[in-house]
Amino acid sequence: MMIPKTNHYWLRNAHVPASLIAQSRDRSSSVAVPDELLLVDIEIVDGAIANISPSESLITYDHPSVDLQGGMVFPCFVDMHTHLDKGHLWERAPNLTGTFADALKTIDRDSKYWNIEDVYRRMEFGLKCSYAHGTKAIRTHLDAGGKLAEVTLAAFRDLRDRWADRMIVQAVCLVSLEDFLTPQGEKLADQMAEMDGVLGGFASMNPEIERQIDRTLAIAQDRNLDLDLHVDENNDPNSICLRIVAETALQQRFQNQIVCGHCCSLAVQPTEESAKTIALVKQATIGIVSLPMCNLYLQDRQPGHTPHWRGVTLLHELKQAGVRVAIASDNCRDPFHGFGDHDALEVFSLSAKIAHLDRPYGDWCQAITLTPADLMGLPTVGRLDVGLTADLVLFKGRRYSELLSRSQHDRVVLRNGIAIDTTLPDYAELDDLQSHN
Ligand SMILES: [Zn+2]
Repeated sequence: MMIPKTNHYWLRNAHVPASLIAQSRDRSSSVAVPDELLLVDIEIVDGAIANISPSESLITYDHPSVDLQGGMVFPCFVDMHTHLDKGHLWERAPNLTGTFADALKTIDRDSKYWNIEDVYRRMEFGLKCSYAHGTKAIRTHLDAGGKLAEVTLAAFRDLRDRWADRMIVQAVCLVSLEDFLTPQGEKLADQMAEMDGVLGGFASMNPEIERQIDRTLAIAQDRNLDLDLHVDENNDPNSICLRIVAETALQQRFQNQIVCGHCCSLAVQPTEESAKTIALVKQATIGIVSLPMCNLYLQDRQPGHTPHWRGVTLLHELKQAGVRVAIASDNCRDPFHGFGDHDALEVFSLSAKIAHLDRPYGDWCQAITLTPADLMGLPTVGRLDVGLTADLVLFKGRRYSELLSRSQHDRVVLRNGIAIDTTLPDYAELDDLQSHN
């Protein structure tokens, strides 16, 4: 597919999800077309979307055009929950049992070797993959316990600066919530505020959890920070950190955006309990991000046993209650997830199968585009509207059944209306980092 090399051209006969275009979102979601797709022509002028009209409604095109023959077009993706700092160290730090407990132990051991160059290069490798697959905005958690903060935050700042013209990159610190009861935790919160980051941490049930969550929210509120927490990443029905976060946010009248990731245990609680939590989450306007690939990998893993559950939270029930629900890639080729390529389409494709996002597809495509953009405070990203930058992903797949059956590795990624090089980085780039010698 040849994209015209002029500053004014048309993409003709593109299938686009109605729920990603403002004018059809306003008209309510009852668009009477299969899979809620619209067949449109998109005019691109000086790197921006100048017009979106029903296909072939304009008889003549007085500018160059390319016929997409019904291929689907998405806005560039938003991957709102990743761990770029841990990425791509599988070969030197494999998780021998694949369990969560061994993932923690393996990372703990490996992170003693982390330095700025090692972390920077693995993070940049992840970013290159992500960019080539068509992602425009990404949020990464950064391990920040003890001395690690010095390394990961420095590597991140460097990466963000060097990629500023290509990627919107946000940082969230990742520590145990008990750290926020200490002066060191407050110092970390100051650092996150200085670098325009997001406050984050790992919440797990313990006798102090209410105090820890209360303090974490207060520290964030003091510094006007958004929050992004790992909660309830397990299958224990008594793990109710999500509910405590929601109750605390309501008590404190927390003003900024809270996002909770994983929330797996919600799915194994009795319905009356999960329904109460979902209502509180809705009331506190907390956004939820599910990490279906990583959950599928880690949850219900016992060596020698076949897993019985898929590990994902109550995606449908949360969304039906009006909670904003996103999906994201999480870990790639590290002890928490042995696979992954930072491909947001793969995240959407696998999530559709793991969590049945396909009957109907409805507006689930928002979960990897518009919704995470909104939760990250990016109102012009992850949607297809006139006036927005022409950052688009063009697929050969014409319907979801085609889009989600092949990898679509022949996709075209446009940034500012210009096709980028979508060659993926070679794994060999990191070979010298795969041992600690
Ligand atoms: Zn995570």
